[in-house]
Amino acid sequence: MKPPIELLDFLKTEDRFVIATHINPDGDGIGSAIALSEALKQMGKRTLLLCRDAVPYICKYLPGSDRFFTYETVKTAAADISSYKNLILVDCNHPSRTGMDKVNDIPFDIRKSAVIDHHETDRDYGDIRWINREAPATAMMIYDLLKELGTRMSKDIADNIYAGILVDTGNFRHDNTSAEVLRIAADLVDAGAQPTQAYRSLFESWSNGRFLLFIKTLDTMEIKDGIAMVTITKKMFEETGTTADDTENFVEFPRIMKDINVSVFLREMDSDGYKVSLRSKGGFNVAKIAAEFGGGGHKNAAGCTVKGDLQTAKREILSRIKAS
Ligand code: AMP
Ligand code: MN
Ligand code: MN
Repeated sequence: MKPPIELLDFLKTEDRFVIATHINPDGDGIGSAIALSEALKQMGKRTLLLCRDAVPYICKYLPGSDRFFTYETVKTAAADISSYKNLILVDCNHPSRTGMDKVNDIPFDIRKSAVIDHHETDRDYGDIRWINREAPATAMMIYDLLKELGTRMSKDIADNIYAGILVDTGNFRHDNTSAEVLRIAADLVDAGAQPTQAYRSLFESWSNGRFLLFIKTLDTMEIKDGIAMVTITKKMFEETGTTADDTENFVEFPRIMKDINVSVFLREMDSDGYKVSLRSKGGFNVAKIAAEFGGGGHKNAAGCTVKGDLQTAKREILSRIKAS
């Protein structure tokens, strides 16, 4: 996967890059952003890492994860933000996915933008667009980019890229786990990435409250025509002392059942409506369903939000799935 020449030129000739990733960030967005930032640092460039939401606790083991600013902290802690004229979006391809389009007091003045992403759904944004829908993870694209840039693969970079790959291949289990994925993972381990630490932190670091929330969530499961649906309400968060960060991966579990083709997870939001995560097996394209609700994602993993009460949200999602 060769990066476009314009992207290489952009990174080599410019300085001061804001690197931003999507809201509700995951290991791929966080790891890709940090790895790219470290590579640019080796080239003597300055970077600023930005995300609307705080780094989830499962990603805090990643070297450099403490360098992220939110839209709140960036205003006071990064006084020189107004001198950053270049924006790079990673693991997403439009400012609306970063939430920055809704904040009008971030004091930066972007002159040139690039997107590095692998989502199936894309919107027309970016002076330089490198979108590879075949890439198993944005972190895989970052790996290729760093090879082209001649970056020294430090342990810190290797850990970050490894996290992105591990998360987006679901621990090397999803059908995007190619020989190339495994070869690159091995190369990253040679460079110092710690597979056990990554697995433990990303998948085996649940608190008791989170486990309790999981039990309660499974209790809400409804199954119909090969579709499993689970729900989390704000009340369930209160009862278990947990937050939205504690729901990462919950949507994956119903897929364990052999007759389940689509798994739907609805989380009540603070604002009106529900955040919906969709997962499928095989040919069923959930990105298309999510796109009908203004969201998007990949063929087998996608997300969107649905306004209204729970019954309406469930009914609308179910009927779209059945209709396709
Ligand atoms: P989620 O279940 O929300 O974690 O999302 C699954 C996949 O879909 C991830 O790759 C997300 O980046 C992507 N995704 C989630 N919501 C959206 C959205 N509104 N637009 C585009 N992609 C999304
Ligand atoms: Mn992501
Ligand atoms: Mn990704």
